[in-house]
Amino acid sequence: MFIRSSASPISVVTGGAGFLGSHLTDRLLAEGHRVVAIDNFLTGSTANIAHLAGNENYRLIRHDVSNFIFLPDDVDFIFHFASPASPIDYLEHPIPTLKVGSLGTHNALGLAKDKKAAFLLASTSECYGDPLVHPQREDYWGNVNPIGPRGVYDEAKRFAEAITMAYHRYHHVNTHIVRIFNTYGPRMRLRDGRVVPAFIGQALAGEPLTIFGDGSQTRSFCYCTDLIDGIFRLSQSAFHEPVNIGNPREMTIRQFAEEIIRLTGTTSKIEFRPLPEDDPKVRQPDIARAKSVLGWEPRVEFDEGIRKTIEYFGTRMK
Ligand code: NAD
Ligand code: UDP
Repeated sequence: MFIRSSASPISVVTGGAGFLGSHLTDRLLAEGHRVVAIDNFLTGSTANIAHLAGNENYRLIRHDVSNFIFLPDDVDFIFHFASPASPIDYLEHPIPTLKVGSLGTHNALGLAKDKKAAFLLASTSECYGDPLVHPQREDYWGNVNPIGPRGVYDEAKRFAEAITMAYHRYHHVNTHIVRIFNTYGPRMRLRDGRVVPAFIGQALAGEPLTIFGDGSQTRSFCYCTDLIDGIFRLSQSAFHEPVNIGNPREMTIRQFAEEIIRLTGTTSKIEFRPLPEDDPKVRQPDIARAKSVLGWEPRVEFDEGIRKTIEYFGTRMK
């Protein structure tokens, strides 16, 4: 059991065996925190946290946070990252996605209130839906189809933001909300269906890159360590409104496919498939708030981040 001491804060990371939760854990440990990760392994993997086995500052609890969370330890920070995150994952698990965004967030906030801990919600650019304002600023309320296939994720996260602000305003919990834009890097699942692992996996296997629609839709890709740095800064701040964290370097999905072909040197061709329902046409973060409140901006160049990610998937495919 971890007991509070000023030298070494205690952080809980829900979804700690996932892509981002495991990178966040590494950063927290490097900052001198002790970490309790809670995960039910719905989309996470023991491979992401294998390097932490035996670390006396780290503990893993296998638990579904949509059920009551019992924890004997003292807690200083709660980072609520548990949720399926890729469109394929949340389409396959629509009810658990709704539950972890609503009941799971409620439980994590209840734990924060009980332990007098700070709380940080991993929210998403999906709160803006298929945006009619471009680039997206935090004061834009979004354009979300509540009953479309992506609604299970988007509305769960919007509810999560609402209950987080309610716990801040009504219970005075020290809460933070990060709206994460498309983030990539090592430890993504090769087959989670997101465009970065999909295209890199296809390129490395010499298979066609599958562009959904005509490839004119845009995304802006942020490397994982940049994102985690912004999140760590936000957790230390006194700022409670949502903050976009992402890389504003925007490109079309067609351009992204061509970059992957260039950087892998593959002979793969491009194939076009139907565009999924409600697929956002554009997405680019306005990061003025992150710059002014957190002094944060991304540092890792696209080529550098993608090369590291290609290297990671290369070792996974052997
Ligand atoms: P991920 O699927 O790799 O990680 C999610 C983790 O949460 C997994 O380990 C999974 O097993 C766990 N989990 C899911 N439901 C749970 C439950 N009920 N109880 C306990 N654990 C549970 O996804 P990720 O990309 O690391 O995303 C992490 C968070 O960041 C999510 O909340 C996601 O919505 C948010 N986010 C990510 C991105 C991105 O680009 N990666 C963008 C926007 C938002
Ligand atoms: N996409 C694609 N081919 C794929 C996977 C995704 O063209 O094999 C497109 C998808 O339609 C979307 C973009 O790439 O327009 C980003 O998709 P992703 O699933 O990574 O995340 P999203 O930003 O849509 O949540």
